[in-house]
Amino acid sequence: MASSNSETEGPDLTKGVSFGDLVDGKPLLGHVGEEAVILVRRGDHAFAIGATCSHYGGPLAEGLVVGDTVRCPWHHAAFCLKTGVPLRPPALNPLDCWQVDRDGDQARVGKKIEPAEPPKVEGPASVVIIGGGAAGAVAAETLRREGYQGLITLLSADSAPPVDRPNLSKDYLAGTAPEEWIPLRPAEFHKAHKIDLRLETEVTGIDTAKREVTIKGGERLTYGVLLLATGAEPIHLPTPGADLPHVHYLRTLADSRAIIKAAEKAKTAVVVGASFIGLEVAASLRTRELEVHVVAPEEIPMAKVLGPELGEMVKQVHTDKGVHFHLGQTADRITADAVTLSGGEEIKADLVVMGVGVRPRLALAEQAGLATDHGVTVDQYLQTSAAGVFAAGDIARWPDPHTGQAIRVEHWVVAERQGRTAALNMLGRRDPFDAVPFFWSNHYDTAIQYMGHAESWDSLQIDGDVMAQDCRVSFLKGGRLLAVATVGRDAEGLQAELKLEGG
Ligand SMILES: Cc1cc2nc3c(=O)[nH]c(=O)nc-3n(C[C@H](O)[C@H](O)[C@H](O)COP(=O)(O)OP(=O)(O)OC[C@H]3O[C@@H](n4cnc5c(N)ncnc54)[C@H](O)[C@@H]3O)c2cc1C
Repeated sequence: MASSNSETEGPDLTKGVSFGDLVDGKPLLGHVGEEAVILVRRGDHAFAIGATCSHYGGPLAEGLVVGDTVRCPWHHAAFCLKTGVPLRPPALNPLDCWQVDRDGDQARVGKKIEPAEPPKVEGPASVVIIGGGAAGAVAAETLRREGYQGLITLLSADSAPPVDRPNLSKDYLAGTAPEEWIPLRPAEFHKAHKIDLRLETEVTGIDTAKREVTIKGGERLTYGVLLLATGAEPIHLPTPGADLPHVHYLRTLADSRAIIKAAEKAKTAVVVGASFIGLEVAASLRTRELEVHVVAPEEIPMAKVLGPELGEMVKQVHTDKGVHFHLGQTADRITADAVTLSGGEEIKADLVVMGVGVRPRLALAEQAGLATDHGVTVDQYLQTSAAGVFAAGDIARWPDPHTGQAIRVEHWVVAERQGRTAALNMLGRRDPFDAVPFFWSNHYDTAIQYMGHAESWDSLQIDGDVMAQDCRVSFLKGGRLLAVATVGRDAEGLQAELKLEGG
């Protein structure tokens, strides 16, 4: 289709297009001035909305239209076509929308629609959120976006304001993402939205009867409702030498910065553990041109989660980039300049990163007497066993309607979506958390998307060519589809999510 200038694609939507030619539910990419816009027909109506996802800039013209929403093909954010409001994280910012005028068969994009102020809503006298990560940060801003006027206190043990944590093992660690990508929000955001963000503030106790939290140092804070979103922490193995200064763990921005600093001087790194984070760290350190060794007890990396075929593909991707795998082995001992493997081999290393998994931070929940079961037990509204206390993110074990089981996952998008749902329910809505779990993982230029949840499966169906990184892998149990992973097939990933939703 003709383009009016080199920067924009598709028709100038202000000049009008034939309504009859628009395919219902198929976005048409065009532009309004310099801005890329998609025009979406739904029945007798057409909607015009910004074409670029506000998360990482995914192309919404290649997205999926569901009802009056459009979903991004990259990380499955969703926006309302009528208002541009982000309905599903990981997008946090709204998109611009334009008026669409009809004149006979012509649909013409007109003026930008001014975003409406949310009506004020009644709610609890105050909300205290413990945890300034994905779930906590999204919960705080959702409360404001929904029109909540009361006090919001966001307590975080971290020294950094909420950050884009997934980036800490990827572009940021590789040195290919600028510093300004990392904060989830600009410095002034929380103050401007009257969110009392308190950093380096560790909560040491919760009294659910008095509705009070205690902060390290003794300060007490009462709450109307409380959200517990303390996330997870890296597992520390009792390996001799694991506490040496050149041995790193990765959870926070400070951790990522410490690895970057160490990588600037190091020549050889050993990554212990072929977890998602471990392998992403390996990729980032290769990008920084370190020699990288990965030590892990499994024979095929990630096979437990992704199946052996995708695991082999991931291994090949890393091997092609020069990563040395030492599989079927563990690290027995770490010294200042070497790691000794269980097979006896010694690898010289001046940097060691431990990526052997995480465990949910449950100490506060347990101390408060909340029901726990390898996670904080919540109901479909993300309420814990104590009145007025919600939990979200890596710590929450919720009844997943898709698998019929209570599950707990460690996914960025799930944590953010739970933060949003918890916020709505703290305002008195009864909004069940029923999102299909979604995560992504990047290894150099290879992106894996995973929809659903399969702790085990009895049948694995592959469509396409896994080693060519063009595939859809379906995980089934008893004939029931539990999860789908895709590589190089973003549109199919969106379709799979919809199918898993039952749509
Ligand atoms: C390096 C890295 C890369 C990742 N990449 C991906 C990815 O590609 N895709 C994906 O889906 N997921 C990824 N994840 C996982 C994802 O980041 C987590 O699932 C998500 O951050 C969980 O959100 P959360 O809010 O539950 O916890 P977190 O984001 O960990 O936040 C927890 C917060 O609680 C605070 N806290 C804990 N205890 C206390 C206390 N007692 N008092 C006060 N504050 C406290 C912490 O300081 C922190 O601010 C990655 C994780 C890491 C570490």
